[in-house]
Amino acid sequence: MLGAVMAVTIISTALSPELPASYQMDVRLDTSEHKIHASERIVFLNPTEDSLNQVCFHLYPNAFRDTSSVLARLDAQAGEYILSGDKAELTVSNITIDGAGLDPGAVTESGTLLYLAIPSPLAPRDTVVISLDFELTIPRKALRFGYNGRGNYILSHWHPILCGYQDGRLVDNEYYPLSEFFSNLSNYDVSLEIPPDFSVGSTGELTLTNKDSSRAVWRAVADTVIDFAFACGPAFQVFQLDTLGIKFRYMLNGENEKFLQTVDNATKYSLAYCSERLFKYPYPTFTLVDSDIGAQGMELPGMNIISFPGGRLKSAADPILWFIIAHEVAHEWFYGAIASNEAEEPWLDEGLSTYMAARIIEMQHDSLQSITILGYTIPINTLDRLFAIMGKAEWPLNLKSWEYPDDFAYSAAVYFRASSVLQTLEQMVGRAAFDSALGGYANKYRFGHPTTAGFQSSMETGLGIDLDSFFAQFIAGTARVDYAIRNLEYKSIAKGDMVSDRGYKITVTVGREFEGILPQKIEIGLNDGAVIDTIWDGAARTAIFEFDANSRPDYARIGYGEGPYALDENLANNSIYLKSFGSRLLTFEWDAVFALELLLTLLL
Ligand SMILES: [Zn+2]
Repeated sequence: MLGAVMAVTIISTALSPELPASYQMDVRLDTSEHKIHASERIVFLNPTEDSLNQVCFHLYPNAFRDTSSVLARLDAQAGEYILSGDKAELTVSNITIDGAGLDPGAVTESGTLLYLAIPSPLAPRDTVVISLDFELTIPRKALRFGYNGRGNYILSHWHPILCGYQDGRLVDNEYYPLSEFFSNLSNYDVSLEIPPDFSVGSTGELTLTNKDSSRAVWRAVADTVIDFAFACGPAFQVFQLDTLGIKFRYMLNGENEKFLQTVDNATKYSLAYCSERLFKYPYPTFTLVDSDIGAQGMELPGMNIISFPGGRLKSAADPILWFIIAHEVAHEWFYGAIASNEAEEPWLDEGLSTYMAARIIEMQHDSLQSITILGYTIPINTLDRLFAIMGKAEWPLNLKSWEYPDDFAYSAAVYFRASSVLQTLEQMVGRAAFDSALGGYANKYRFGHPTTAGFQSSMETGLGIDLDSFFAQFIAGTARVDYAIRNLEYKSIAKGDMVSDRGYKITVTVGREFEGILPQKIEIGLNDGAVIDTIWDGAARTAIFEFDANSRPDYARIGYGEGPYALDENLANNSIYLKSFGSRLLTFEWDAVFALELLLTLLL
């Protein structure tokens, strides 16, 4: 038991000088009844500037308790789970605060939230010790936790966890179908009692402390994490590797053992890539668990759950695994250690993770950059742009997760448009400047719970430019982007007496088709091989540019840097090529992507 009372006033750790909470849990898994019996003891430090009269817990599993939950009412699939008898239930008992029991009136349960009145106001930076017992009924796979037919368990968002504070405000949102998770960074010291033949992986560092024929007891210790998750079961093949100063643990189902090398390569590459650009991965362990959880992947602190591609996607398993793992590993920073609010500002986490994954994929061998399905080869990194375009910017990026009407609207905005917006910003300012500013954001908010405003000001500082208009148009707003070369003409002009002594006046008409305004580079390729260009602020609906040149033009194109912006929706109008006598020829020089877009629109 972990019952010994510690006199703790400040919760300081190796990673953080001060954390709002420290959890000790004593957990026993009962596999015959699929239940967890546990006690939890929390030292909670008031992280706000105000006195607190209450503390609040998330009891996430209760979203699956009955069909009256907000989640079950909004998500037909969750409702069906519950009706078919796959219920979860988290019940809390024997609550004490600083050793004293609470009056019944001091405990209020509302949906998935539990509020406890504190007997006397808790001053800023003061601590209380909250103790409670809890029992969790584990369902068969329910969204992100449960057990499966192999007898393996995934426990995430499963114990009573304190609602977090952001800028002094209590974040006590319900569990909605599209909302993910936010808590403050905390410490965990957990004793896990499981069957002796089970392997286990968790957030933090695990050590076996006791084992006999009936049970194994593991201790997990985690420093500065937003939650504690674990997976265990009799059916995992476990592979452990010590490298990069990190203990990697891969828990695979037997049939996926053949992907071990891919999993290892993708995990290590992604961790090293993010460590270099953001900050060094702060934890001593990383665990990857193979489980079908109804999503491709799920980020947990120091731990990812990965659903291996099956069916038609099996033949493309390697690139798909890379894509999923790169995304989930990037979450370890944005959701995990930077810990922005995934429920209220999902774009700040999902968008940055999707963007980062695209950067990681771009660095890989060609064979990992595209997937071939039904005979069609699709470059993975065109998918963000494609889904963003399909979403038609109907919803801004910065809504709360539950404000999006459905799954598609949510993912088109917070994953794909967000990634395209970040790519566009990168194109606008240049990769080196973008990377340096993003690294500045990451380091400023390491363990910092930033908001969108913090991201904007951090990027503005790093880039040395004002981003009000950019954020108003593309983060808070729904501006779409399409720029076009409307016309390209030239006149031959005599410059002297000789027939060969001629110059050319070139006229380019450019246009802005949508409301989104971005600076553009207009480039003219001349017949003698020279290239001339000019920068346009992109504000007018139509603009005409004239150039004097010594050679006639072959083409004109509009974009920025290496090509059109990721947000530019129609790439077929970004260039005009001329045949020898001025007749117009459209080409798709910049857009192998364009043909692909047509193809995918047909496929999806
Ligand atoms: Zn994600």
